Amino acid sequence: MANGTNGNKMEEAQRKVLEWARGRNGADELSGACTTLAVIFVIIDLFARTTWVSVVALILLGYSWFRITSKDVSARSRENSQVLKAAGPVISFLANPAAELREAKNYVHLACPGCGQRVRIPRGKGKVRITCPKCHTRFDGKA
Ligand SMILES: [Zn+2]
Repeated sequence: MANGTNGNKMEEAQRKVLEWARGRNGADELSGACTTLAVIFVIIDLFARTTWVSVVALILLGYSWFRITSKDVSARSRENSQVLKAAGPVISFLANPAAELREAKNYVHLACPGCGQRVRIPRGKGKVRITCPKCHTRFDGKA
């Protein structure tokens, strides 16, 4: 009896979350990067104790939340890809530092000379011939 009630409540809560999230942008690289930057600023502030650092952190968190909850998905995804184009590696790193560090340890990243697409090869492979997955340019690399 009690379990049945709890189950219904869980379903109800899940349904509400899904309803709320529908049509919203959700987390993307840019919001993740802003959150990481905010955390970095908060840590800096622990040592520096200057108010503006916390204010910047709050603004970054606010902006990140705005992106996650935004209903203008096409505008947000346009901004996201623009920023990724301008500062791709930095943003990917900030968006998920742990995963990027793991990547850097296990893979070598090379940029395609034809289109700039990032291609990764497992470390220790030696000399390899790579075909770009995007523009099919062939180039040599060392991993
Ligand atoms: Zn290419």
